[in-house]
Amino acid sequence: AKDVGGGEHCRFEPELHATAEERRRLEVSLRKAVLEDEFVLHYQPVVDARSEEIVSFEALVRWNSPEHGFVSPGKFIALAEDTRLIVPLGQWILREACREARAWPEDIKVNVNVSPEQLLEPEFHQDVVDALAASGLRPERLEVEVTESIFVRDATTARNSLEQIMALGCSVALDDFGTGYSSLGYLRKLRFSTIKVDRTFVQGAAQESNESLAIINAVVAMAKSLDMTTTAEGVETAEEAELIRNLGCDKIQGFYFGRPMSKEEARRLFCADNGQ
Ligand code: C2E
Ligand code: CA
Ligand code: CA
Ligand code: CA
Repeated sequence: AKDVGGGEHCRFEPELHATAEERRRLEVSLRKAVLEDEFVLHYQPVVDARSEEIVSFEALVRWNSPEHGFVSPGKFIALAEDTRLIVPLGQWILREACREARAWPEDIKVNVNVSPEQLLEPEFHQDVVDALAASGLRPERLEVEVTESIFVRDATTARNSLEQIMALGCSVALDDFGTGYSSLGYLRKLRFSTIKVDRTFVQGAAQESNESLAIINAVVAMAKSLDMTTTAEGVETAEEAELIRNLGCDKIQGFYFGRPMSKEEARRLFCADNGQ
């Protein structure tokens, strides 16, 4: 089944524009869920485009609700943001992801998604410091993922907040690149380590859309000259992987190399790797 993964698009699905009553019910459950630990993190591998070795895992939150069953992040992240429940949830995600990453080999990073609401909180920097301290994870192994939307709300605060965690040694990836509305100006001001090329361009390129190919080429060239790396998202087939490799992307993420998996499955992957 073609699962779970397309979750990011659910944000625009009718569910979210459900009746006020349904929304309120979901909010009540979500509030309870934050208190009662109904969340788990799954981890999706990111591989080096050439060696195909795992270089990182992206932490992706899942909600197992007693009332609503399995709810994909596409359906509850936006609500969590609107209600600011994303702040305590985001703190938990940071801590859990850092703790889990400690169990992996030293050269594997963990990527953690951070919402604008969370990033713009004055406590964000301290939350990162605490998560690193509690887990003992080296800051260099934590990469925070943000989208262009952070620059729409309060660009100065967002930038300061990211610079603070970069000063700790953490890196920052720009997620879903090319799907937002902001200008390229912020790329001059902030030293992202990675630009993540959105899946829509990968799909387009695979369908021989010259526009998508041109855009990926341009993003790769731009990233190189800015000393940033590129990750292609949503690579589902061997053909797409080959194409993306030829376009010069540094890293690849997608169902072809691995779906988001439980922490146990992720750990087992390392055992298998080591055994080879
Ligand atoms: P994202 O950060 O762009 O995450 C990538 C999404 O693409 C994930 O969906 C993943 O399962 C899916 N995906 C990965 N490879 C493929 C592929 O080859 N094909 C397809 N069709 N999909 C693929 P997921 O886990 O449903 O998450 C959706 C979005 O929810 C994420 O998009 C992110 O914006 C948000 N999200 C997920 N976890 C967190 C979190 O811990 N914190 C925050 N703030 N947001 C999160
Ligand atoms: Ca996305
Ligand atoms: Ca992401
Ligand atoms: Ca993304």
